[in-house]
Amino acid sequence: MGDASLIPWSEVHSWACTACGRCCVGYRVPLKMDEYVRVARRYGHGVVEFGLGKVYLKHGVGDRCIFQHPSQGRWVCALQAIKPLACKLFPFRVYSQPVYKRGDGSEYRFRGRTFYVYLDPNCPGIVPGRPGERFLNQTLPEIVEIGMGLRWKQKYTTSKYISWTPP
Ligand code: SF4
Ligand code: SF4
Repeated sequence: MGDASLIPWSEVHSWACTACGRCCVGYRVPLKMDEYVRVARRYGHGVVEFGLGKVYLKHGVGDRCIFQHPSQGRWVCALQAIKPLACKLFPFRVYSQPVYKRGDGSEYRFRGRTFYVYLDPNCPGIVPGRPGERFLNQTLPEIVEIGMGLRWKQKYTTSKYISWTPP
């Protein structure tokens, strides 16, 4: 999915992950060096693959990330405790420049800085409309803090259906 279809945050009423699992199929998850070290230390080097100077999580059957597991009719991530940043941010994209043009509704002021925040329309957890209170006061600040590296733990930006405990 190209950037041209990204939704500016100001056109979103709310978002909640339904644990549908769609984002873990097809998307290649790049790992930062510290993420790679953490994952490899715990699961071995066989769970990653290399390409164009980057490290990615391996995909398995049906092009699904090998860390995704079915649980009670939903899909959950086995890497919850050490989930890569790219996964934590999905379906959000936090940029320092607008994707379209200034005034596209993506501008977001946070702690004296300006960001441009969008959502990937492939996520069925997005509810379009005027931004709601929870979205404004909890979801957006948390996602930007995660994107900035100021926060690690997810409270409002992860699925409430997490029930699978990694071995
Ligand atoms: S983030 Fe969106 S696409 Fe991914 S599992 Fe949650 S609802 Fe599905
Ligand atoms: S690490 Fe988890 S959230 Fe990320 S793609 Fe794999 S299963 Fe999905």
